[in-house]
Amino acid sequence: VRAVDTTRANPRQRQLIAAWSEVRALAGVEMLLSWDQETMMPTGAAESRALQLAAVAGLRHERLTDDTLLATLAACEVDALDDPAAAALAREARRSVDRARKIPAELARSLAAARSRGVAAWQRARGANRFALFRDELAHLLELKRQEAAALDPVQPYDALLDEYEPGTTAANLEILFEPLERALSDLVRAVASSAGRVDSAALRGTFPVDRQRALGRRIAECVGFDFERGRLDASAHPFCMGIASSDVRFTWRAEEADFRPGLFGILHEVGHALYEQGLPVEWLGSPLAEAASLGMHESQSRLWENHVGRSVEFWRWLLPLFREQFPDFPCRRAEDVWPVLHVVEPSLVRVDADATTYNLHVAARFRLERALFDGSLEVDELPAAWAAEMRRLLGLEPTDDNHGVLQDIHWATGLFGYFPTYTIGNLAAAQLFASACSDVGGLGEHIAVGEFEPLLGWLRERIHRRGAWLSPAELVHEATGAPLGSAAFLSYVGEACRSLYG
Ligand code: ZN
Repeated sequence: VRAVDTTRANPRQRQLIAAWSEVRALAGVEMLLSWDQETMMPTGAAESRALQLAAVAGLRHERLTDDTLLATLAACEVDALDDPAAAALAREARRSVDRARKIPAELARSLAAARSRGVAAWQRARGANRFALFRDELAHLLELKRQEAAALDPVQPYDALLDEYEPGTTAANLEILFEPLERALSDLVRAVASSAGRVDSAALRGTFPVDRQRALGRRIAECVGFDFERGRLDASAHPFCMGIASSDVRFTWRAEEADFRPGLFGILHEVGHALYEQGLPVEWLGSPLAEAASLGMHESQSRLWENHVGRSVEFWRWLLPLFREQFPDFPCRRAEDVWPVLHVVEPSLVRVDADATTYNLHVAARFRLERALFDGSLEVDELPAAWAAEMRRLLGLEPTDDNHGVLQDIHWATGLFGYFPTYTIGNLAAAQLFASACSDVGGLGEHIAVGEFEPLLGWLRERIHRRGAWLSPAELVHEATGAPLGSAAFLSYVGEACRSLYG
């Protein structure tokens, strides 16, 4: 991979990158406003924030659809014919410009405002544990997203949404990947339920003061390689990570005093995202190549650190002394004693707290529900009941209330339809990438066991982070692992844990 050398770029390419830097800066302002809304903003400011976000989104849309930019891009496409760096640059710019030009400016502004109001309504509904308080905003957002998708692709509107997050992916391709996976996972969950094996999860019970969890979480983030000079960690209702700029990567977490898992694994998850953002190619800064390849690739980084590193025996060899420093009453003395507790397979109601085996069944439910909402075969008012039916079918459980059911995720409230499948793509890619890293880097486990994360991070930097958006996500996985994305590595990862715990 050759860098986009801006000093060698011709004037037209420099002009494109200059225009792009401004578009990216405006996107950073939008992220900063959203970050503030989810971490700091007084609830009374919801309406003014919606207007601010709509104004900035309108500006960004204006810049992106500017005729001069289009002419510059067209000239760059001609220059790019025999230069792969210029071709990748033009291809990524073309993707965004074409999408933006198909969406009317008024719709772009309305969507930004509706997303902001959607989050505010979702937070109110969560506070009251009542879906009814979110219902109208959701219906409005869904209508706007339908208009957006139809403008992008009147024939396959849902695919147009998927394509924003996972370039090149279609619902039909995902069905082929997901259906056998769903069957295999359902079989596994049933086999575990009927097995005699039980894991004593007594170690999970206890008191884990939040300030101590925070101290430990920050230390872990630092040790795995997060640079706090170029980012920060804060609290929010729904954890997330935002690459506001390469020098300003912010991630959030939430903690529970009675259970250390949401806090610890939330930090490891989001720091995986954050390391990706901090590792994007600075030499391509300001160009559309200095972005993550896709959200599925993003999720592969978070799940790799959360599950393949964070739940491993090797990681706990390193972590346990630090953990017991903060929580001296923690009953496990050896990493081997912690491992089973972290691999319990247990159908549960909340996706973000789900174990690695049942997690993708939650995603399957949302993928099915959002397509039904989208094509009109499911009405917004029927959503809570349909949600409960999916949970019963896939996991044998029914939500006890709206917060543990239809209100648990923020995604639809911010207009993210077509986003959930990227979680499963990420889980599959994480397993495949980690298996490749283990075979490429000698003694990776021994490094992790003594808190040396640089060999793994270095491999990820080289194979994934520094590639930016140079390759499509499918090409990137293939290049890094020598095979197309599949579910074999993931199924072997969860299968091995199940066999060892449940026989
Ligand atoms: Zn994530």
